[in-house]
Amino acid sequence: MDQTALNLGEPDADALRVSVLLPVPLKGPLDYRLDAGMERPPVGSLVKVPLSGRTATGVVWPQEEGAARKNLPLARLKPVESVLPLSPFSQDLMRFVDWVSAYTLSSQGAVLRMCLSVPAALGDVPVRTQYVRGEIPTGPRITAARQAALDAASLDRPQTASVIAETAGVSTGVVQGLVKSGALRTVEVSVDAPFQQPDLSIEGPDLSKEQQVAAGAIKDRVQCGGFKTFLLDGITGSGKTEVYFEGLIEALKEDGAQVLVLVPEIALTAQWLKRFEARFGARPVVWHSDIGMAQRRRAWRAVASGEARVVVGARSALFLPYKQLAFITVDEEHDPSFKQEEGVLYHARDMAVVRAKFADCPIVLASATPSLETLVNADDGKYEKLILRERFGHAVLPDMFAVDMRASAPVAGSWISPVLSDAMTATLAAGEQVMLFLNRRGYAPLTLCRTCGHRIECPNCTAWLVEHRFKKELQCHQCGYMRPTPAECPECKSEDSLVACGPGVERLFEEVSHAFPDARTAVMTSDTMTNPRATAQMVSQIASGQLDLVIGTQIVTKGYHFPNLTLVGVVDADLGLRGGDLRAGERTYQQLVQVAGRAGRAEKPGRVFLQTYEPEHPVVQALLTSDGDTFMQAERQARQRFSMPPFGQLAALVLSGPNLADVFEYGRRLASAAPALENMQFMGPAPAPLARVRGMHRVRMLVHGAKRTGIQNIMRSWVQSAKPVSGVKIKIDIDPYSFL
Ligand code: ADP
Ligand code: ZN
Ligand code: ZN
Repeated sequence: MDQTALNLGEPDADALRVSVLLPVPLKGPLDYRLDAGMERPPVGSLVKVPLSGRTATGVVWPQEEGAARKNLPLARLKPVESVLPLSPFSQDLMRFVDWVSAYTLSSQGAVLRMCLSVPAALGDVPVRTQYVRGEIPTGPRITAARQAALDAASLDRPQTASVIAETAGVSTGVVQGLVKSGALRTVEVSVDAPFQQPDLSIEGPDLSKEQQVAAGAIKDRVQCGGFKTFLLDGITGSGKTEVYFEGLIEALKEDGAQVLVLVPEIALTAQWLKRFEARFGARPVVWHSDIGMAQRRRAWRAVASGEARVVVGARSALFLPYKQLAFITVDEEHDPSFKQEEGVLYHARDMAVVRAKFADCPIVLASATPSLETLVNADDGKYEKLILRERFGHAVLPDMFAVDMRASAPVAGSWISPVLSDAMTATLAAGEQVMLFLNRRGYAPLTLCRTCGHRIECPNCTAWLVEHRFKKELQCHQCGYMRPTPAECPECKSEDSLVACGPGVERLFEEVSHAFPDARTAVMTSDTMTNPRATAQMVSQIASGQLDLVIGTQIVTKGYHFPNLTLVGVVDADLGLRGGDLRAGERTYQQLVQVAGRAGRAEKPGRVFLQTYEPEHPVVQALLTSDGDTFMQAERQARQRFSMPPFGQLAALVLSGPNLADVFEYGRRLASAAPALENMQFMGPAPAPLARVRGMHRVRMLVHGAKRTGIQNIMRSWVQSAKPVSGVKIKIDIDPYSFL
């Protein structure tokens, strides 16, 4: 074919042109050419194409109307190399990618990269060579060793050479000899075992009246199909999990249907998974940051092929290539960890609703403390609210007490007030368990020199180094920098002059060990629960009563059910309120309700003590009276008055770079390029509260729209209109949750 025949005007040219989206931050899909004889891959197919001198895997993307790239003549396009033997992406996944990209102002490619996050899943699955019994050899008499190996081999169940050799008590050389002679036949077996399928015939528990009502509404919707969002608002221990399980099971009755449960990463505990397994008769496909590469590949492929029916995962599970997504639950929907703060900045709860909309399926947002965003949507009639008011069975919500730390002050250098200490003594004496909650890892958040007043900071960040006494080191919780705890002040060199200021869980452990020497005590933090086995071990020790006292950070707030735990002490209820941003009150309230919810989950009633210097604070009052509605109502009014989310909209710009003056210069350029708009304010540049991280200076700007009008277009043209400063990075955060 000559060049002119391949021109744009040629009628068949479009038939040979395919649009391929690649997982790289380009503007949009690129056009490629199909070689003669190559069948046109359906939209959504995964294809290999050349990209700047290498081969990349992309997805055949729906052709956009009037896309500008079209004018590149066909002859100049690179050819599609091959089509991968994988199920094409579903239409709704592609729409989702486009939508998330437009909403977060990230490139489509950056969003696609989250869907193609497992390169190994795109290649061939590795196989393992195994053996079964083949032709019985004739000819020379067979040795005893060979006979033993033959006996050990199976006719239909392939085994590895070493397994056969071990069973027979012979060397693998014997096995290899049999392979050579044809007496053992080689079978290539995929290293990925298939996933277990859920058993839908397992009877669930008998539901209470209110559980039935909620489950019924969800099941009805699943049956008639179509998109709908439910808010499942039920107190801790009310059986929300049982209720949404009913929805999942109902959805799975349809052939090929897949369901997704999104949970905060720390709620994905072995205890929780066991419960899941009991209900579904199979382990779910698990997806989170901690699974290994092989597991990740296996899960990705099973989701793409439709083999994975039930997926439980952290936020990134939303971007897996489901073939037929039929139901989504977001458990603990209020949880701040659903907001992704790196790369594409998205909120998984919000995006899950969008995903359900495109998949045209129901979604349940479950929480004991729903976010204000979700409550407002429910009140506006966009979401249907289902309420569970009672704890299941005989369990009741724990009694809540505030300890006024001004009146019941602990002695200097300790953090447990006499009131809490007495309650602990009584609880332990009754043979029940105590949990102390303090959301601070390490021994002390600050190390100070008594002689010169020096505070030990991270060399790379605006952050104090946190002492970890168990490990004898100082750590930066921002960048991971660490150094051994020094004996002398790094500034004035005075010896024995450094003092630890404030408590962390390790320091609390020290105090408890002195005050309750007989209590079997453990610390549960990400530092002590470094792997699933260690975690499972500690959890089962608590559940079986081998431990009396647990000191934990937020890691203990979710997913655990300890029947004998009857006392929870919140060591510093005011901690989350300090340096508060927009949601500090809401977040603290939610977190403390979750912590309190650990107490008295079974037969024995629970008590919760909140140590506070501000017992009259609305958050503390709401906890004491269990009147979350009134508290959230007040929050709502305050947000409405100032047009804050969800009534107005925020977007943040974070500029960062090695040179502070450059970073500010970019900020000033942006500020002067800001459009003058009614109802929209542009604030900053100002140094970020975390002014330096990993050696990079950080400057923030904030855009506030009085209404939710979709500020993406304005942001896009605004940012484009300001000349960048070289070396300064810009990050746009639509609906920011972090203001640091
Ligand atoms: P939530 O998710 O609202 O915190 P869960 O679903 O974890 O509540 O339920 C709390 C406890 O009560 C769990 O141990 C659960 O197995 C049990 N439970 C809830 N509903 C029922 C029921 N209908 N029958 C039996 N046990 C139930
Ligand atoms: Zn000093
Ligand atoms: Zn640091």
